[in-house]
Amino acid sequence: MNSPGVQPVVELKGLTRSFEQGGVRIDVLRGVDLTVRPGEIVALLGPSGSGKSTLLQAVGLLEGGFGGEIVIAGHSAEKSDPHARTILRRKHLGFVYQFHHLLPDFDAVENVVLPQLVAGTPRGEAEDRARQLLSALGLEHRLDHRPSQLSGGEQQRVAVARGLANRPALVLADEPTGNLDEATSDRVLGEFLALVRGEGSAALIATHNERLAARMDRVVRLHEGLLE
Ligand code: ADP
Ligand code: MG
Repeated sequence: MNSPGVQPVVELKGLTRSFEQGGVRIDVLRGVDLTVRPGEIVALLGPSGSGKSTLLQAVGLLEGGFGGEIVIAGHSAEKSDPHARTILRRKHLGFVYQFHHLLPDFDAVENVVLPQLVAGTPRGEAEDRARQLLSALGLEHRLDHRPSQLSGGEQQRVAVARGLANRPALVLADEPTGNLDEATSDRVLGEFLALVRGEGSAALIATHNERLAARMDRVVRLHEGLLE
């Protein structure tokens, strides 16, 4: 059961999160249980405001204020101090956001190299990895372009490459193609899923788009603060 091959990349047990809005308490997550196994691509589906981003923030160990238990690759986040949580995040997790947050003054390769340098990868190795990922996403002719010189779809591909750069066991993606037109969104999502599958990573991908969710291995739905 606990052999390394089947250890979940993430386990949520009774995850809760409430916010105060104008003196009123709203319970956004009311006891979410979720297990994602290595290599599994899970769609997190739910309408706008259902708590998808809140759930991904919890799994990403980016914010506190949650109840319940978050276990990343066998390590309980609650039992880790802030430094240990940062190490857990760097070692196991990758992030792809809808608004890509690329660094505007750096070219595509450098945007993918920098997170690898932070993780301790030697520069030469990081550059090879960046070029390989960007080329797999069809950007071999855009390597030295800055974000402002790229189309929306190309920028999102750079964000995908950056999210996978450190070979995360689990990629967290929040509406990763939500700011693209339908045709581009379909194409970039297809490339993203192919790359994640090729790398053997697991992914938890928030979307409100049923059609996109149907292309993933499993769909979980947030409804009234619970997963169904
Ligand atoms: P989704 O990503 O599914 O659209 P969110 O997780 O962003 O949903 O938000 C779920 C609910 O939590 C919404 O009602 C939102 O207003 C509320 N919420 C999210 N973050 C905060 C916050 N920092 N403070 C107060 N309310 C918040
Ligand atoms: Mg959201």
